[in-house]
Amino acid sequence: MNIKPEDNNTTISYFKEEIERFVKERRWTKFHNPKDLIQAIGIEVSELSEIFLFKDLTLGTIHKDKDILENISDEIADIFIYLVSLLNSLNVDLTSAFIRKMKKNEDKYTKEEFNDGSYRKL
Ligand SMILES: [Mg+2]
Repeated sequence: MNIKPEDNNTTISYFKEEIERFVKERRWTKFHNPKDLIQAIGIEVSELSEIFLFKDLTLGTIHKDKDILENISDEIADIFIYLVSLLNSLNVDLTSAFIRKMKKNEDKYTKEEFNDGSYRKL
């Protein structure tokens, strides 16, 4: 029985390997360098932002419109694909980076000091 890949059963390695295969099969490795990938991520973030430009899109309206949710999901996937390719090009282990950075965030934004819903220290 084939299990459909979803967030709750897919590893980061799966994404890294799929994107590496896709890039290599097209001989695009020379284009997937850190500078171009960072710029591509910025462009894809702009494409995501454009969906919301001059519209009053709330969670309620987004979930009522299948096309808008699909467009948003496509742009999020574009951002993610370039981000994972950046991890590949820099040989960064995302899990290690995540754990290290979350520890820094826990130390910087302690729950004792930031427990009133504010982003600023009082
Ligand atoms: Mg796009």
